[in-house]
Amino acid sequence: MNNIIDLRSDTVTKPSKKMRDIIKNANVGDDVYGEDPSVIELENKITKMAKKEAAVFVPSGTQSNLLALLSHCQRGDEYICGQEAHIFKYEAGGGAVVGSIQPQPIEFEKDASLDLQKVKSKIKPIDNHHARTKLLCLENTHNGKVLDLKYLEKASKFAKENNLLLHLDGARVFNAVVDLDINLSDITKYFDSVSICLSKGLGAPVGSVLTGSKEFIKEARHYRKMLGGGLRQSGLLASAGLYALENNIKDLKKDHKLAKKLTKSLKKIDEIKIVSNDTNMLFIEVKDSEKLVNYLREKNILISGYGKLRIVLHRDISKKDIEKVIEVFKSYYAK
Ligand SMILES: *Cc1c(COP(=O)(O)O)cnc(C)c1O
Repeated sequence: MNNIIDLRSDTVTKPSKKMRDIIKNANVGDDVYGEDPSVIELENKITKMAKKEAAVFVPSGTQSNLLALLSHCQRGDEYICGQEAHIFKYEAGGGAVVGSIQPQPIEFEKDASLDLQKVKSKIKPIDNHHARTKLLCLENTHNGKVLDLKYLEKASKFAKENNLLLHLDGARVFNAVVDLDINLSDITKYFDSVSICLSKGLGAPVGSVLTGSKEFIKEARHYRKMLGGGLRQSGLLASAGLYALENNIKDLKKDHKLAKKLTKSLKKIDEIKIVSNDTNMLFIEVKDSEKLVNYLREKNILISGYGKLRIVLHRDISKKDIEKVIEVFKSYYAK
């Protein structure tokens, strides 16, 4: 499997030798008793970086988002989010199934924002007919697209004016952070809660963190236990996340650069339509996409999608790999 160039997702990154050494030597305890020093260190680190009051380490981004829904909303409440948002479309309907929380999705704008006028029109009046609109969820990055800080400021003001809580699915928030060359807190300050994946571009094997107020995280811990996410010596995993936060954030820049390089080359091929290229992601459209995907696979290159194809850069992909990918694309269209 070693010479496979896997561009399906940044979740495929494997822990480096150094990270494995860190894991091997991690200090651990029982985290359900609150006694795992590595988990505590990770939670403290994110809390500080996000300038929030508290954080909780969780097995996945999906659980982290679900904890946010459960902790912010009661049964019969409603959250507004993007139609293609992960929290709505790709998390098995957890908010509705587990929390009896109704989703109200609306179309994303081209820049991955939610039009606040459209959001406003979906907020239900308070009367017996309606679910209670409680929460607004944004996603940053979404399909690699970075939300503008001015927009976040507006969204935050809007949420306050309309008595909504504001959650960020920041699975890839650090891609936004390096793209804008800012600090995490420059984004997190606009939100009541933020979920962050450690297991994508940052390169940790497992884990996400959810951050917010003390009270909110206390709730989230309760629901984490309920969902079976209370892990014991999870410092083995948290230590990898901690290592990733200390060492791997800046490397995301390299991923963005390589995505640009690839985009530039693919643009020169007439048969390829570049749909978008933002941060570490690239979406393309071609005729007969299945044929192209199969050809690439024969050449040990994996990409994902049907119709619109997705190519994702990550830390296990080198400049040399991308040069090979460009050659293979060229050879396919030279046939
Ligand atoms: C991957 C992802 C998640 C969920 O993360 P998992 O750890 O795979 O459960 C949530 N939101 C977004 C935007 C994601 O890309």
